[in-house]
Amino acid sequence: MKERRVRVRFAPSPTGPLHMGGVRTALYNYLFAKKHGGDFLLRIEDTDQSRYVSGAEEYIVDALNWCQMGVDEGASVGGENGPYRQSERKPIYKQYADQLVASGKAYYAFDTPEELTEMRDRMKAAGVASPQYNAVTRSGMKNSLTLPAEEVQRRLEANEKHVIRIKMPRNEDVKFEDIIRGWVSVNTNNLDDKVLFKSDGMPTYHLANVVDDYLMNISHVIRGEEWLPSAPLHVLLYLYLGWADQMPQFAHLPLILKPDGNGKLSKRDGDRLGFPVFPTNWTNPETGEKSSGYRERGYYPEAFNNMLAFLGWNPGTTQELFSMDELIEAFSLDRVGRAGAKFDFDKTNWFNQQYLRMQSGAQLAPQLKPFLKSAQLDAADNYIAQVCELMKERATFVEDILKEGRYFFEAPLSYDEKTIKKKWKDQTPEIITELRNLLDNLGSFDADSIGACFKGFLEEKGLGFGAVMPAFRVSVTGLGAGASMNEIAALLGKEEVLKRIDRALKTIKK
Ligand code: GLU
Repeated sequence: MKERRVRVRFAPSPTGPLHMGGVRTALYNYLFAKKHGGDFLLRIEDTDQSRYVSGAEEYIVDALNWCQMGVDEGASVGGENGPYRQSERKPIYKQYADQLVASGKAYYAFDTPEELTEMRDRMKAAGVASPQYNAVTRSGMKNSLTLPAEEVQRRLEANEKHVIRIKMPRNEDVKFEDIIRGWVSVNTNNLDDKVLFKSDGMPTYHLANVVDDYLMNISHVIRGEEWLPSAPLHVLLYLYLGWADQMPQFAHLPLILKPDGNGKLSKRDGDRLGFPVFPTNWTNPETGEKSSGYRERGYYPEAFNNMLAFLGWNPGTTQELFSMDELIEAFSLDRVGRAGAKFDFDKTNWFNQQYLRMQSGAQLAPQLKPFLKSAQLDAADNYIAQVCELMKERATFVEDILKEGRYFFEAPLSYDEKTIKKKWKDQTPEIITELRNLLDNLGSFDADSIGACFKGFLEEKGLGFGAVMPAFRVSVTGLGAGASMNEIAALLGKEEVLKRIDRALKTIKK
């Protein structure tokens, strides 16, 4: 049999910003497609007009761009199988709903909302915990299975409000093999007569999803675990529409869990524990409420992707850092687990740190410049690059280089009190003055020479490191700890270091 071309889709509903779980679903689809030389589609599932949120689609497209997941076909880029927005595909779906009615697999239902509520109340009173419109209850309702054919005809001709429901068979086992979960078998007695086509002329998610996957020739449906209960219905639709041989393979991804406890990670967890759950900033267009995103907080998309890839998948080796190309190479659905994956914010920061360190000072410098600018600081590019090179080991975000190393760009405005209290003794001014004069006499002011000079001074004077270094550091940087002082001093240059020491000697009072 000819191998089927791999075609997968990411099919978000534009009901708000994309949660990071959604980004992970997109990522796994993208990796799977690229691994197999296939296509990654973006389909916007906006059949539920009441839940539409303006700006959400743009948000999704922008977030995928930021995460460097190139879309081969879709709402944002077009393609041969469009349109890719379900609201623009409206005329396509009705014929399939009609086909299902004609073949006896679906039926018209005319029940009003009051009648539906009445049925549910009646069932509840009889002890049914979650009443459904199903093979049992449908016989007591107003539908084309219970009403005389002429009346159905009359109602349809009079354009009476109605929906089309699937006629769920009794006591049949629906089976399919999920790539991640193995065989799934559900008895139809546990399934209800889901609405396929709504009274507003739009299909529901279930019908539209199956029809579109079929028409777009989707080979694998990779989506969140929350859709697993819908999969048997989707399988039945493939069978009833005569598309059994075109049925995609299913892979339902494990949940992303909150860092503490077992529930699904929610926006509330992010608010409570202080981390974003969205890839990029989002402002709710109705309430104006703002939510922060990873991009604006200074995370690299590479780090964000790498972290997401590991939420549910592992390579089976100890390697943790993967570029997108390496992820594509290593990814397989076989290595996606069934158990929920706990989100770990510290690990997310660790990934960012690693991606920051991988870059050279020269690569980091242009990233630091905007932060310098907003702090009204500046320096030569080459100097900024050297600062970045020296400070990158101590940073998680580029911004940290300025936060931790502001003294590279301006003389300290104050001196760390704790250090002064503990380390600035009566004899310190004298010691620091002597050190200053030795430094002044250095021919070459590089880190090694400064280090040798410092060491020689300690030996000659019989002083311990702690009697000199903290005082030297606080005089030059204002801080009690930091990167190597030899390196810092060399970068600042002799003139600046001496100026700062002189100022410290005048300013610091015990
Ligand atoms: N529109 C669904 C969602 O918002 C897509 C589910 C699927 O991938 O089938 O998640």
